[in-house]
Parts: sequence; C-alpha cells; structure tokens
Amino acid sequence: MNATFPPPLAAIAAAPTVESIETMLVDLPTIRPHKLSVATMTGQTLMIVRICCSDGIVGIGEGTTIGGLAYGGESPESMKLAIDRYFSAVMIGQDASRVQALMARIGKMIKDNRFAKSAVETALLDAQGKRLGVPVSELMGGRRRDRLPVAWTLASGDTGRDIDEAEKMLSLRRHSIFKLKIGLRSVREDVAHVAAIKRAIGDHGTVRVDVNMAWTETDARLGIAALAGAGCELVEQPVQSAAALGRLVRRFPIALMADESIQGPESAFEMARNNSADVFAVKVEQNGGAFNAQRVAAIADAAGVELYGGTMLEGAVGTIISAQVFSTFANLQWGTELFGPLLLTEEILETPLDYSDFSLLVPSGPGLGIMLEEDKLAHFTRDGSLTVTRAAD
Ligand SMILES: [Mg+2]
Repeated sequence: MNATFPPPLAAIAAAPTVESIETMLVDLPTIRPHKLSVATMTGQTLMIVRICCSDGIVGIGEGTTIGGLAYGGESPESMKLAIDRYFSAVMIGQDASRVQALMARIGKMIKDNRFAKSAVETALLDAQGKRLGVPVSELMGGRRRDRLPVAWTLASGDTGRDIDEAEKMLSLRRHSIFKLKIGLRSVREDVAHVAAIKRAIGDHGTVRVDVNMAWTETDARLGIAALAGAGCELVEQPVQSAAALGRLVRRFPIALMADESIQGPESAFEMARNNSADVFAVKVEQNGGAFNAQRVAAIADAAGVELYGGTMLEGAVGTIISAQVFSTFANLQWGTELFGPLLLTEEILETPLDYSDFSLLVPSGPGLGIMLEEDKLAHFTRDGSLTVTRAAD
C-alpha cells in the first residue's frame, strides 16, 4: 500500500497525541417543559468533553441524552464515568490525528456506549479540523450544502399553546416544518390535536408526528389512517417493534420513519433489508458518532430509504457535529430537526448559531467552527463535576 511500515521515527515524533481529557456536566434550563411520551424535560444536561493534544490543540465534544435514562441505556453521568475511567485509559498517549484508527481502538476495548463514543469522536474531529484548518464536514468528504432545513417540535402538551408557538415560528421565518410529540393521550385525542394544529397553520407549514414507540400495532393502524386524513405527512416511530413497523409500512399514503430502531449501521442494514421504514432518522449520538451516521446514510441510499437528520436535543456542540455530517449526506429528503440549542434558555457560544430562513447555517470555521463561552460554561457546570484525566507520571 502507501505507507512504509514501521513508519519512520520522525513521523512518530511529529504525531500529536492525546495528553489529557476533561469532562464536565453542564445543566441548562429549557424555555418550556418539553413533553414526550417517554419523559417531560424541564432542563437538559450536556456532558462536555475536552480533549487536549500535545500540539496544543483542544477539541470539544458533547454527550446528551433525552430525559436521563428514559430514552436509552446511557445518561450524562454514565458517559462521564465511562470516559473518565475507561475511555481515557485507551486514548491518552495515542495519535490524536488518526481519528478513525483511534475510534477503532476504542471500539475494540469498549463495547456499546454509543453516545460516549460519539462525544469523544466529536472532540477528536474538532481537534483535527482545527489542526488542518478545515471544517469537520471537509474531513468527512466535503459538504454538499451550507444550510439545513430545521423542523420545530411542538411539545408543550397544550393544543392552543402549540398553535401560538407554530404561528410565532412562521412569522419569525425560523421554522415551517412542525413535528408534534404524541402518544401520551388516547389515539382519538392525539389525532384531534394534530388536526387542529394542521387546520390552524394551513398551507404555511407542514405537520409530522413522533409517537416515540407509544402505540400498539392496533393503535397505529387506526392512528396512522386518521393522521393521513388530518393532513399529517409523516409518522415517526409509532411502535417499538421493528417487525410491527415493517407490517405497517406502505399500508398508508403517508411516510413512516424509524428513529429509536436505528442504532448503528447493523440495525440500519436490518431495517433496510426487511423494508421496515420509508425514512430513517439519523442521530449522530444514537449511531455511535459521525462516521457511523455516514455509514447509516449510505445504507439508506443504497436501499432507497429516505433520510432525516435527527436530534437528541443536544446543545450547540452536539448540534453542530450533526450539522457538519448531515451537510455531507447525498440525500436529506426530510431535512433536520437540529433545534436543540433553541430549546435552551442559555447561549453557551461566543457567537450564536445562525437560525434564519427556516434553516441552520453550518459553520465554516476550522473543526466544528464554534467557540464555547467559558464563563457561561463554568457558571452552569454542576458543582464538583469537572474531572481532568492525564497520563500517570
Ligand atoms: Mg423521534
């Protein structure tokens, strides 16, 4: 192949290594309660990781979950523990500039922990982009678009309040795609809620729903048919079982999207092979990082499955790694839902993200292209949660 092995000593000496890894928990309030079928969120905790390299470059990453452990097996606290105790031991002293090789090493020594893997991979990519002076999108093959359409989730739990919120977003030109969180009430009440919102916004916006697996297959048969009649264009993860999803798909005139079912390339392959969904929601963290998100997108493209860029309601760092990688996708037929930072009351970036014209601008500076505001971050860091791990002397 290309490189000589073993590599020359000069190359070894020049390779920047991981020197230390910092983790912290940052607790931020949300602008309103965010009601999902799995949890009601009044705040969001970001697990922020900083990877400091021997060449002085620092990369940042984020691990965020929805509703603590309500959504999956990892929590911000568990990610922090995993990184402090186990990831650090595998990473410190390793070549920081070979991101895929280091992620493969981590993959060998650490099973599962997809969210924590995504956080450290984000920090490594941010560092490498800064090192080379290019945005992460360019490390990942090159962006195809600078702006991403962003849906807004209406999840206050109150129909009138949701309609007011939708109208406000339309008048601000911030969002015209609305995703409604349903599944907590009866199917009949939920359908009435969706129909009222669609009636109110008319042709000014589109309406989709996310059931977050709350329905039985029987509920779903009734519910999806009624939602199609109410003008809803897409139903996200109505049921938990991939088999049930597969039985429901293509029985209705509207699209069915898999979200919770997509947990990395292997699950995406199975879903594609079994024709279990029309659309995949791709979440960087849920798939174990940005490279895996690209693998899932490639599987979807090959299978003729359409794509949507999902969120774990991340803060700015998790949102921007997602934006960087979604900007490289060949297809993104259903846009994204990268509104996480807009749900938080606090701005933690030196320069806020640009949400305008119904879309998010993908930053074009080196790495992620964003800078954390350190004072703000320190203020909201949970007491005693900052840990610095470096090589033992
Ligand atoms: Mg979802």
